[in-house]
This record gives sequence, C-alpha cells and structure tokens, in this order.
Amino acid sequence: MKYVLVSGGVISGVGKGIIASSTGLLLKTIGLTVTSIKIDPYINIDAGTMSPIEHGEVYVTDDGGEMDLDLGNYERYLLTTLTRDHNITTGKIYQQVIERERVGQYLGKTVQVVPHITNAIQDWIERVAKVPVDESGAEPDVCIIELGGTVGDIESAPFIHAVSQLQRRAGKGNYAQIHVSYVPVIPPGPGGEQKTKPTQRAVSDVRSAGLNPDLIACRCEQPLEDTTIDKIANMCQMERKQVVAVHNVSTTYHVPLLLEKQKLLKTLSELLNLSSIQQPPARI
Ligand code: ADP
Repeated sequence: MKYVLVSGGVISGVGKGIIASSTGLLLKTIGLTVTSIKIDPYINIDAGTMSPIEHGEVYVTDDGGEMDLDLGNYERYLLTTLTRDHNITTGKIYQQVIERERVGQYLGKTVQVVPHITNAIQDWIERVAKVPVDESGAEPDVCIIELGGTVGDIESAPFIHAVSQLQRRAGKGNYAQIHVSYVPVIPPGPGGEQKTKPTQRAVSDVRSAGLNPDLIACRCEQPLEDTTIDKIANMCQMERKQVVAVHNVSTTYHVPLLLEKQKLLKTLSELLNLSSIQQPPARI
C-alpha cells in the first residue's frame, strides 16, 4: 500500500481536500486504484450533529455515515463509494480505545495516547485503506490521507505522531507528504506582494512536529510568480520542483490540470516508485 498524506499549514480551508482529491484523480489516470481517508481531529464522533452554518455540507455516505464534505469531493473526483470508516475523528478513535479498555483488552496496562491511541489510528488507517472502493472490487494501490485542521493544533498531535510512525510501517518508497500552505497577497489584488513568510513558518512547524513534507502546495489568490516559488524553495531548503503552485481557479475541477502541468505525477511516481505497480490507464 502506498500512502500520500495531505496536511495543511497557515490557515484552515486552504484547499487540502481539493488538492487531495485532485492528486487521487491524477493517480487514477495512470491506472492505479485509489482510495481516500479523511482525518478530522475534532472530538465529535461524526459531522452529523454539527451545525451546517459552522461546518458546511454534511455528506452522507451509502452506509449512512454522516461526514465532512471532503468525503463528497473524494467520491465525486475518484468515482468511489466510501464508508463511515473512511472518516476518522478523535471521537471515533477514543471510543474504540475506551471500549477495548472496558472489556480488558489492554490486559491491565496503563492506556495512553502513545502508544494506544496512536497505534489505534495506524491500525484503523491500514485496515480501511485496503477496503475496495470502486466497481473493480480491487484492493486499492494508493490511499490518500487528508489530515484536517492545521499542523500545530493541539488536536492534531496524536494524528501527526501516528502518521509519522505509519511512514515507517509503510516502508521506504511507500509514503509521500504534500503540505498545503497559503501565500497571501499584500495589499490584496494586482500589484500586491506575494508573501512567503507564512509558508516558511508552516514548513518549519511541520518539520518540528516530526514530519518532512516532500512537496509544498502553495494556494494563492493569483498565479504564483517565479520569484515567489524560488524564494519558497530556497528558504525551505527544497528543490524548485517540490513547490507546487495552486492559484484560485473558476472551478475546482481545474485543479488536477494545474497540478499535472507542474509534473505532480512524475514527482509522485519517483517518490512512490509507482512504475512498479502501474497498470494500463483506467477510463475515468
Ligand atoms: P480544506 O480541505 O483545506 O478545508 P477545501 O479543499 O475544502 O479546504 O477548500 C476550501 C474551499 O476553497 C472550498 O470551497 C473549495 O471549493 C475552495 N477551493 C479550494 N481550492 C481552490 C482553488 N484552487 N480555487 C478556487 N477555490 C478553491
């Protein structure tokens, strides 16, 4: 199983879900079977009880799961049928661990965030990633994991710990991370300056949290200037090809093309050694 983690920095609502879905769609175009998991670090068991004014659309999966709207994007972009288990929340993980503790499954051990919660997260991801989600009925080749919220939030900490361990469980060449950041334009509009400092801070934060992104996707109101991309690459000690620009587009269905123009598939193929599992292109 290959994993692509999509995390976010600077602000929430930066476009992680769209970038995760678009990345999955590009992987499908080279014949891979793609699934997706959304992590929401809130304590609610699911989005069913959350105000749509605060939270937006509640997406209902075929099995009746009430989810974050990103699950809807995944199903629409990837033509998959997901289940309630494809959405992990802090509430679900704690509920599972506490139920196990009540029936004595931890054999008298002190139950702790590390390793019990973090292991439960990894086990959940590994189990659900293998569930067939499209009409082929095949076990997926790649699982896109979107980590909701922004890195640095207290709520995300156990998930960050878990995914950094998952990286080791998955093994070399089976895990890549895209960190989505925001490039503000000050003053807003044409002629404003594209500011890279929030992205520099976001990359520094994610690294100090123990994750090392392979790609930085920079969301910006306007197309990123070459000098902005160069500066981000230099300041974050990354190659230029590791910085992907995602400007505002009229419809989010253009985002896959935007990513492909920047050779995202080629970069991911190298990172994940995709040629070893690549199938003839699928019809999508
Ligand atoms: P996150 O997952 O980080 O919360 P989403 O992917 O849900 O963010 O995107 C937040 C909002 O921004 C959505 O309404 C989405 O349609 C919009 N959006 C995302 N990327 C773009 C883009 N490149 N251009 C225009 N709108 C976008």
